[in-house]
Amino acid sequence: MDVADIPGVPEWLPEHLRGEGIESLYPPQAEAVEAGVTEGENLVASVPTASGKTLVATLAMLSAVERVGDGGRTGEEPPRGKALYIVPLRALASEKREEFEQFEAYGLDVGVSTGNYESEGGWLASKDIVVATSEKVDSLVRNDAPWLDELTCVVADEVHLVDDSERGPTLEVTLAKLRRLNPDLQTVALSATIGNAEGLAEWLDAALVDSDWRPIELRKGVHYGQAVHLEDGSQSELPVRGSEKPTAAIVRDTLADDGSTLVFVNSRRNAEAEARRLASTVESHLTPEERDRLAAVADEIRDVSDTETSDDLADAVEQGAAFHHAGCASDHRSLVEDAFRDRLVKVVSATPTLAAGVNTPSRRVVVRDWRRYDGTAGGMQPLSVLEVHQMMGRAGRPGRDPYGEALLVASSHDELDELFERYVWADPEPVESTLAAEPALRTHILATVASGFANSRAGLLEFLEQTLYAVQTPERGRLERVTDDVTEYLVANDFLERDGDDGLTATSLGHTVSRLYLDPMSAAEIIDGLRDAEDPSALGLYHLVARTPDMYELYLRSGEDEEYTMLAYEREEAFLGAMPSEFDPAFEDWLAALKTARLLEDWASEVDEGEITDRYGVGPGDVRGKVETAQWLLGAAESLAGELGLGVAPAIREARVRAEHGVREELTDLASVRGVGRKRARRLYEGGIADRADLRDADKSVVLGALRGRRKTAETVLENAGHRNPSMEGVDADAAARPDDDGADAGEGGGADGDSEGEDQSSLGDF
Ligand code: ADP
Repeated sequence: MDVADIPGVPEWLPEHLRGEGIESLYPPQAEAVEAGVTEGENLVASVPTASGKTLVATLAMLSAVERVGDGGRTGEEPPRGKALYIVPLRALASEKREEFEQFEAYGLDVGVSTGNYESEGGWLASKDIVVATSEKVDSLVRNDAPWLDELTCVVADEVHLVDDSERGPTLEVTLAKLRRLNPDLQTVALSATIGNAEGLAEWLDAALVDSDWRPIELRKGVHYGQAVHLEDGSQSELPVRGSEKPTAAIVRDTLADDGSTLVFVNSRRNAEAEARRLASTVESHLTPEERDRLAAVADEIRDVSDTETSDDLADAVEQGAAFHHAGCASDHRSLVEDAFRDRLVKVVSATPTLAAGVNTPSRRVVVRDWRRYDGTAGGMQPLSVLEVHQMMGRAGRPGRDPYGEALLVASSHDELDELFERYVWADPEPVESTLAAEPALRTHILATVASGFANSRAGLLEFLEQTLYAVQTPERGRLERVTDDVTEYLVANDFLERDGDDGLTATSLGHTVSRLYLDPMSAAEIIDGLRDAEDPSALGLYHLVARTPDMYELYLRSGEDEEYTMLAYEREEAFLGAMPSEFDPAFEDWLAALKTARLLEDWASEVDEGEITDRYGVGPGDVRGKVETAQWLLGAAESLAGELGLGVAPAIREARVRAEHGVREELTDLASVRGVGRKRARRLYEGGIADRADLRDADKSVVLGALRGRRKTAETVLENAGHRNPSMEGVDADAAARPDDDGADAGEGGGADGDSEGEDQSSLGDF
């Protein structure tokens, strides 16, 4: 289908698409248009990775905005529709926003909502297209964002993740609520190829495009011995030298043909080790010009943060290799993705985060590890076919490569056979709803009652009928049982009240918990801990929030039990609530929370970020993730303390602000000036500048000295503090105020106290 023949889209679109090199639609895109996606029809598109799903969504949204909806806004302007694009990860929200921002040239307004959970995002009311995670949309519903009633189109990206026990239920429930709020809402769901796409289509009353068409041929296979075995039965030689690993041999072979390789491994540590190893393979293939450009990228990476991860990544990038995982800061990740797309970095070893939607195609993909550690199963477990196929789908860059090749690696003949059976020839498994589990329903049942979607047991069950779970499970026993258990729990904790026989209402506390986006179990734990607290210490408060189910876990390494048990006794006075006995099975989790709490305490005591990442065996992305989660939970604790009339709110506030900026008490004011950050705040303080007011009237030469003579930075900081004349022209740095250490000044203003874009609050597990 030629782009000029798409009905329902804005006039300017065909020309715009041609400008992007898109002359005609890919077959699955054409099918979607024929099914009415640009005319308001619901659609589920289940197509392989990198086959143009985003354009399907774009067509749906642009036509929906263009179309005058029945319930459209009235006024001077012609009424327009409004579209919402739901992404599974926050990292993808910014990527999609950037992608849709190209339409601002045609008068559309695009917004991304990644802010705090407890806001209703009023400013989004004027946007035509809003991008947000499902958690954020859920929280907007809970906070009654009025513009949600005006939506005419919702797109759910990567909808196959409904089977993820953490975020799947939120997506299910949120889609059900949006559809209840707007009965005419157009729903478009995009999914990787899955085994039961019809079920999803049935759930959403949608037409189905189920296709395995790809824009570039994908050849799947397995490397074993000295050869590549492909799915068509062909074999070709790919020799492995004496001490070489098969992955290195594949990378070398690809380089010989001037191609790049993406290597998927099962843990962050392996990703880093593999990048280090492969760097030596890549290094000798680089041209002098590439070396120079890589050195520049490496410098930018070092500037992102002052940590070992940052240095290790920069070292690898200098040699043309990189790693990519959720422990990297988001700026690290985007630098790596860009350098890989520019063909500067020749190999990236990644955990599966990169397969989940980031657009980084590569000539070859190697799935090196097909098993990974799974704590709940207590050992190594095989990856799902769906996951492996998504990784493999990253192979082949349309228009650049003749075809893409994706290889698993076998070390024995039996494994070769097994991998063919298990992955190469296998179809992806069906996705199944995980809604009927207590942790998921605990939070969603409270929110459903609190936001007025149900006010009785019968109403709740009727609402839950609209979920994928109900479509997939004809038998209702389990759902009813879990609903009853959870309701009982919510009533016992004073979040819900029974009203007559069947009726349910949310208490004032329940409303607050729902708006704060807390798991009710976290709220109960926090309330319990705060009730008897008199003058809680920062460590006590950090520990309290660290032991809630909303803080994802930091595991204890072997030998650490003892260290943290000692610490527990040493700091016994600090903890809120009783310490479980050492023989209690809950003790282990309690200690793990202590590890997180001490990490936060270190951060709020100005310990260097690099020292923290070493001490706790985590990446800079984790430190930021923990800090962000702690900030949110402490903010929620503050609200709960206020609601319950407990006098501890000021202590919580202080602990929160210290965590936010990573500073001791005396620096909280100074560090909150934009562009200052923890290290600069300390140096200014040492130069005699104690707070924002001092900074406003400060002697400029002292400021310049404390900021290591960086004029631009000094001007920005003074401007942000409200200095009357921030110009540094003609100012000399005061040598006395100049710090004598030459430690890097990097990461200030960014990082956990700045614009960091960590992962979502809900856990990404080990990735
Ligand atoms: P997916 O979302 O399915 O993983 P994308 O939407 O990211 O895939 O598309 C992959 C690439 O294909 C993008 O670079 C996009 O610009 C390009 N593309 C999409 N549709 C077409 C088309 N009809 N013709 C040419 N290129 C296209």
